[in-house]
Amino acid sequence: MSNVRVRFAPSPTGLLHIGGARTALFNWLYARHMGGTFVLRVEDTDQSRNSQEAVDVIFRGMRWLGLDWDEGPDGKGGAHGEKGPYFQSQRGAIYAKYLEKLRATGKTYEEGGALKFKMPKTPGIVKDLVCGDVTFDRTMEPDLVIRRKDGSPVFHLVNVIDDLEMGITHVIRGEDHLSNTHKHIALYEALGAPIPQFAHIPLILNKGGSKMSKRDDGAALSFYEDAGYLPEAVRNYLCLLGWSPGENEEILPLEEIVKRFELKDLNRSNARFDAAKLFWMNGEYWRSMKDSDFTQFAGSFLEKNRPAASALPEPIRQGLLRVIREKIRTGKEMAEWLDPYLTEDYPYSLEARKKQFSVPDSGKLLQSIEQGLQTIGEDFNDASVELACKKIAEENQLPKPARVIHLLRCAVSGHTVGPSLFPLLTVLGKTRVVARLHRTRSLWEAGKLGETS
Ligand code: GLU
Repeated sequence: MSNVRVRFAPSPTGLLHIGGARTALFNWLYARHMGGTFVLRVEDTDQSRNSQEAVDVIFRGMRWLGLDWDEGPDGKGGAHGEKGPYFQSQRGAIYAKYLEKLRATGKTYEEGGALKFKMPKTPGIVKDLVCGDVTFDRTMEPDLVIRRKDGSPVFHLVNVIDDLEMGITHVIRGEDHLSNTHKHIALYEALGAPIPQFAHIPLILNKGGSKMSKRDDGAALSFYEDAGYLPEAVRNYLCLLGWSPGENEEILPLEEIVKRFELKDLNRSNARFDAAKLFWMNGEYWRSMKDSDFTQFAGSFLEKNRPAASALPEPIRQGLLRVIREKIRTGKEMAEWLDPYLTEDYPYSLEARKKQFSVPDSGKLLQSIEQGLQTIGEDFNDASVELACKKIAEENQLPKPARVIHLLRCAVSGHTVGPSLFPLLTVLGKTRVVARLHRTRSLWEAGKLGETS
């Protein structure tokens, strides 16, 4: 183990922002790269927004991304056993001790019941591993309140004390904190404490080019879990927001990223969040996922999002997922594509009504398809169904089987698009397919498949 110690220090706001997740990831990567320690510290001193749910959102997001933390309040490092984390709300006695220390330096004074720290008026220089040397003019800098009138210590103070107490060697955080850092350095100096290295990582910009905020679509990490993205893909994408493996490489296994992750390779310029690229990357991971991993992913996603799926006979469920998987790229799409088969009372889309059921010969053709498929025996499979479709088209004087195929798809699924049709029908099996055709024909004959009804 090296002596590198880094930390992720989120405030529980109720959501884990993409930017926060990226900060956590970069700290974790650096700790793992160096064989150091990754500390999770919940900065929960703002009692008004503190809640267990808000803290759980952070834990959930980190676990989803696979970012395990190493240490707990007992100070003992756990071998990735999720000890801890630290909560600032439990560290009041430590902050009180440091307030006394600062008072003893003569660099503080009371004003209106608050305790203030005399900010030096000399230029504040931050030596940053990403931003270089950044100088802040402090001639006009007001003194810093470090303890409020109500006795509570402020963010700047507790943040510094904790980094000091926890022996943090590298502070890796968002660039929005760069302008605070000279204040933090002044506090370290007043305490006669060693100053950690700082690495302020570039902001994440939204599509419009401004800083991605809570209100932007897809700004919360949970959005991607809920939409059934693969955590490996999201993690890989986040790695590229401010860091680059070089040589135009983008998709890399985590171990490889851990091996290559150096702070010197962090980018200075802001990173643009590209939702389309993340979606594409998810597709790449989706396609290359091992079958056994897919089965596991689908099982847990559907358990949460489509409990009805568990009622399907297992071979049909597996078969449907197999044919659906080929055409889609997220869990949410998978669930939506599965929907028509979770009930025998499935709806028909407006497009299906317009493009297929509004054609006057639909009833006759549906009957012909039903009969044609009915005649297939035990060997109801891709090839026999395809052959039957050709025959049905010929019998109905259709030059090509296209109309038969499209109508058949709409009849069994209610949609104009879906998985490859013949494999889908094979999975469903003759009995289900014929029953669905029959239902559709009855509805059509009863005039219920009109364009708007
Ligand atoms: N609690 C601060 C935040 O969420 C973290 C500051 C830091 O990383 O030093 O912005």
